[in-house]
Amino acid sequence: SKAREMEKGGKNKVVFDDIAGLEEAKEEIYEMVKFLKSPEKFRNLGAKIPKGVLLVGPPGTGKTMLAKAVAGEADVPFFSLSGSEFVEMFVGVGAARMRDLFKKAKEKAPSIIFIDEIDTVGRARGKAHAFQSNDEREGTLNQLLAELDGFDTDTGVIVLAATNRGDVLDPALLRPGRFDRHIHLELPNLKERVAIFKVHMRDLKLAPDIEPELLASQSPGFSGADIANICNEAALIAARREKKAVDKHDFMDAIDRIIGGLEKKSKIITPEE
Ligand code: ATP
Repeated sequence: SKAREMEKGGKNKVVFDDIAGLEEAKEEIYEMVKFLKSPEKFRNLGAKIPKGVLLVGPPGTGKTMLAKAVAGEADVPFFSLSGSEFVEMFVGVGAARMRDLFKKAKEKAPSIIFIDEIDTVGRARGKAHAFQSNDEREGTLNQLLAELDGFDTDTGVIVLAATNRGDVLDPALLRPGRFDRHIHLELPNLKERVAIFKVHMRDLKLAPDIEPELLASQSPGFSGADIANICNEAALIAARREKKAVDKHDFMDAIDRIIGGLEKKSKIITPEE
């Protein structure tokens, strides 16, 4: 099976400290960590924990990171699939993978299931993806719905899903007992961009002229993923220039490159420009 598991304590482990900003989202999702760590506290009170949590936000804002951090903080296994893997599949294969994913997660419970790009499988009927047969997609979606209905949170499995298009999802997915809890992530503001720069600078050898505040002010509208890219690009540029430390100049050039890349991308999307 293709279900990927991130082993406990592996070097891929993500914790909340790796995520800058997103304070509200972290606070909301922390309840899931508490549940995974001590489910009996919730059970004793008769509290029902949501089975499914939908993370909604623009690309690169940390949805995957947040899901991994829940697993990392609770120290439970992480099983993931991406909706895009279901595109152009033979009928029945997607449903079988979905079944397999839930089976594995239940065997290793408490655990997290993460479904990235859920809109690819979970689009409202009639709004199918151009490269995907409707039968196949509906088969996969129906299997997901059946799996969600087929277990109790007592099993200790929590399903997190991510999308940047909450509006296109089939309403069946959003019903109570399914993905009925939503957490919204936004592009980072200035202060948050400063914090994201700082997180990604932790592993770099920096020259003393670096000011995260200045870099953040030069990158409005950038996502966390864009900022991670800038930091790595700056280090690559510095290496190419045979510098001993990454300096402001390298960062400014990296920002230019990333802006250039973003402009190209938006030209493809809006050809009239
Ligand atoms: P997509 O919708 O494209 O799948 P996503 O919302 O799932 O994106 P992630 O995959 O979690 O985004 O983020 C991509 C990378 O961007 C992360 O691995 C991390 O390096 C960086 N990043 C994003 N947000 C943050 C943040 N708030 N703090 C630190 N790093 C971040």
